[in-house]
Order: sequence, then structure tokens, then C-alpha cells
Amino acid sequence: MIYDVIVLGLGTFGAAAAAELTARGKKVLGLEQFSIPHAMGSHHGHSRVFRTAYFEHPDYVPLLRQAHKRWIEMDRKRGGGLFFQTGALYAGPRGCSTVDGALESARRHRLDAHRLTPSDLAARFPQFHLPQGFEAMWESCAGYIAPEHAVSWMVREALNGGADLRGHEKVFDWAADGSGVVVHTQRGVFHARSLVITAGAWSSQVLKNLHVPLTVTRQVLAWYWPRRPAIFSAPAFPVWAIENEEGLFHYGFPMTPSPPGVKIALHKPGVAIDPDSVDRFTRSGDEAQTRAALGRYLPDADGQLLALSVCLYTNSPDGHFIIDRHPAHPNVSFVCGCSGHGFKFAPVVGEILADLSTTGQTAHNIGFLGLSRLAGRKGSGT
Ligand SMILES: Cc1cc2nc3c(=O)[nH]c(=O)nc-3n(C[C@H](O)[C@H](O)[C@H](O)COP(=O)(O)OP(=O)(O)OC[C@H]3O[C@@H](n4cnc5c(N)ncnc54)[C@H](O)[C@@H]3O)c2cc1C
Repeated sequence: MIYDVIVLGLGTFGAAAAAELTARGKKVLGLEQFSIPHAMGSHHGHSRVFRTAYFEHPDYVPLLRQAHKRWIEMDRKRGGGLFFQTGALYAGPRGCSTVDGALESARRHRLDAHRLTPSDLAARFPQFHLPQGFEAMWESCAGYIAPEHAVSWMVREALNGGADLRGHEKVFDWAADGSGVVVHTQRGVFHARSLVITAGAWSSQVLKNLHVPLTVTRQVLAWYWPRRPAIFSAPAFPVWAIENEEGLFHYGFPMTPSPPGVKIALHKPGVAIDPDSVDRFTRSGDEAQTRAALGRYLPDADGQLLALSVCLYTNSPDGHFIIDRHPAHPNVSFVCGCSGHGFKFAPVVGEILADLSTTGQTAHNIGFLGLSRLAGRKGSGT
């Protein structure tokens, strides 16, 4: 049998691409090295921030608008539990890139976002205690996604549409020529017209010979039980991100029933690791990344530690995604290097990968995310 498309890796973007391609009537084979979903890569941890006033680059905003539309549709179809619109509060030292960048994206794209005066902040969100000289802003088109549910839902959609999706089937090798692709796993050899590579933290291994400059880092998530739990649920308490004086930011979520507590994390590339040998156990020192920020910004949440979890970022040198076709093989497309902020884009990246793998082009503006911008660059990470 010759498939239309083989999707290599069924995590965030692989699930989205498989669902989209199947919905377009394509015969899809999806191959995943672990279970579907799993907690060894980048899509576990129960919540992922969705935000639209994107301080990273205003060109992401049209992609985010489409992703927002798709998350709402998916959530409605599933009967809820997948996308939660809470709005978001961003803060940092006056003139910081988080607030200024988000406001600039909002201005260019006419988004509902505005600065909060100190008295607005105190009246609306008394949970936040900002240091002297910090400013805050609010954006309404923001919230969070439940990542394990989202991946599971997209995989179910693909399976229900007839896709052939297989867990515990690691791809060891692939090759492409003008007529198609051949993919080798421990169980067999598969043929297709095109290949979509969505291998996350394993992208450097799978995109052999391409030398994509990626650095995989170990990231820690933490859950705490607030001292005053009643004031940390949505809608009274939103998703948030606060930049510090060093330009790094912590971010967090309202209380969820499962797992219990408020979740907080530091958004900064952690220690560079190999995804096959990373220490997935948490250590007592892991708590320090979030404990001080909790006490500083949200003292009423500064309660008992409940849980820690290790996840992987795959960082590109400039922090922007890489979405492209393979320069030597036009029938191979890929996404990687999402640098800890890719989940929210999953449905629109699924559309882009479906476009690239079936027509070679996409109407979405991804020119700023192409591989050629990184020519000569080396991997980043700390
Ligand atoms: C701690 C943490 C917090 C984050 N917070 C946010 C957030 O708040 N908002 C946001 O938008 N984004 C966030 N992100 C980023 C986002 O989760 C990632 O950008 C996204 O999940 C990456 O998706 P992926 O498909 O590339 O990787 P994954 O979801 O990990 O999928 C890659 C898959 O490929 C499989 N694979 C690899 N090699 C092979 C092979 N040879 N054969 C078969 N299968 C293979 C892997 O097993 C894996 O399942 C966060 C990430 C982390 C780690």
C-alpha cells in the first residue's frame, strides 16, 4: 500500500497534521515511538497558555487568530474541557519586551488589549503584587488549552476518519526521491507520496544531514496549593506572564481540579540535555525556579508544593519556529524548534503541514519561519 502522507511523530503537531490531512481525504500513516499521548516529550503537563497579543513577533498574530478559531471549534465539538478562555495579564519592568511587544502586536492587529493602571490592577486582580516600577496589561483573547486532551482529540479525529496511527513504532530511517518516500521502523517498511516530520525534541536525529541548529532543554513545571485557594480560580484569576529585571519570565494558570493547585513555570531555556538520556525525575532544587517568583508576585498562592514535572523545550537559535520543506526533498516538510511556545498553534500548524505536504505551498504567511534564515547559525540554550 502507498499512503498519501506518512506523519513521523504523533505528539502535538503530528496529531494536528494527521487530523487535518485525514479531514482532507488523504490516506495517512502516523508513527509514534512512545504511547499516544505520553509524558516523555513536550505535550504533557495539563495546561498550555494560549495568547494572541504576541510579544515574540506580530507576524504570529494571523496564525493565532486561525488557531483560536480552530480551538473553539474543537472544544465545542468535544463538549468542552479542551480550551479555556480566561484572558491574560502580562507584567514587567516599565519598557519590558513582554508588555511593549504584546501591546505593539495588539496595536498592529487591533486586538482587545490595554495597559492596566495600578488602581485597575488592585481592583481587578488583587492577587498580584508587582514590584516598584513594574507595569501591567490585559488581553482578552487568551487562556489555556488542555494538551493531553487536545492531542488525544486530534488523534481520535484522525482515527475516526480512517488514518492508520501506530504507537510504539519508532522510525529508524527514511529516504526520499522524486517519486515518494520510504520509511523504516522496527516493524516494517512503509511507502508514501510525502513525509511530514513532527519529531519535537528528536528532530535533530530525524532531520539527519540537515544540521538544524536545535538545543533541547530540561524544563520544570510546578503546582502549589495556594494559602487562599478561593481567589485563584478563573474568571477571578487569569493566565499570566511576568517578566523580571533579567528579561526572563514566569507564567502561570488558574486553579484546575486535576491536578489540584495553581501551576507556575519559568520560561527560559533550561539545561541542555539529550532527550534519550534526560533526567526525568525531579530534584529538590527544581522547586527553586518557581518558589521565589510565587512569593514575590503572588504571596497568597505561596503555599505547599504539590507536584513537579519535567518537560522538554526544543529551542531554535532565535526562539522562532522552523516550518519549511526539506531543501533537498520537496516532498518532505517539517516543523521544529518551537522554543517552548508552539502548542497554542497546533491546529494552524496542522493546516500548514497539510498544505505543504500535498500542494507544496501554503496561503498562511510563514515566510518569517523558514529554515534559510538560520544559515550559518549554531544551536542556543543554556
Ligand atoms: C514545560 C513546557 C511548557 C510549555 N508551555 C507552553 C505554553 O504554555 N504554550 C504554548 O503554546 N506552548 C508551550 N510549550 C511548547 C509546546 O508544548 C511545544 O512547542 C509543542 O508541544 C511541541 O510539539 P511537537 O509536536 O514538536 O513535540 P511533541 O509533542 O513532543 O511531539 C513529537 C513527537 O515525535 C515523536 N518522535 C520523535 N522521534 C520519533 C521517531 N524516530 N519515531 C517515532 N516517533 C518519534 C516523539 O515521541 C513525540 O511524541 C511548552 C513546552 C514545555 C515543555
